[in-house]
Amino acid sequence: MANVTTPDHPLLRHKLTLLRDCTTSTAQFRQVAREISLLMAYEVMRDLPLEPIDIETPLEPMRAEHLAGKKLCIVSILRAGNGILDGMLDLVPSARVGHIGLYRDPVSLMPVEYYLKLPSDIAERLVILVDPMLATGHSAVAAAARLKQAGVGAMKFVCLLAAPEGIATFTQAHPDVAVFAAAIDRQLDDHGYIRPGLGDAGDRFYGTR
Ligand code: URA
Repeated sequence: MANVTTPDHPLLRHKLTLLRDCTTSTAQFRQVAREISLLMAYEVMRDLPLEPIDIETPLEPMRAEHLAGKKLCIVSILRAGNGILDGMLDLVPSARVGHIGLYRDPVSLMPVEYYLKLPSDIAERLVILVDPMLATGHSAVAAAARLKQAGVGAMKFVCLLAAPEGIATFTQAHPDVAVFAAAIDRQLDDHGYIRPGLGDAGDRFYGTR
């Protein structure tokens, strides 16, 4: 699928099974989602540019490498996006974090923004937009559009599970934004849930059901 990456790693597959399992506790769900998020961050950042830097090891000088170019900002789509922030920040602790809150208008069924907090220099950063579930794709499409409106040029989208319908909607609206999904499931059901899925990600992160 164009511009969609599903990293194929046995650890990811194993941990996803734990997330999906309805007997997994809230505490374990959070911990495993954190681990998966770290693994996803590792994949998403695979192409970050490096530049040479001269350092001294305890034994001799050497020309080493460090990250160059744009700094990072992870933007969470509230509320479930927050559940995968910590795993990403474990890997890139100096990244800035933004939040965007959207609710679904009961009449138009379209996403409406109710909260936005972004770093002032977001336009200069590589943005990693995160939401665990790419279901209909409407929230992710709206969030990415809002970030572009704020000046963001370089952006990637990360989720844990995606529905084929959500991927089609998102990639059509934002063909320039690479999508990283830990797995692509079978379908959306009539209630907008991803099947087989993992249920309501927010409820499972926060034990609110
Ligand atoms: N959001 C969720 O939390 N779960 C789904 O299956 C779809 C959207």
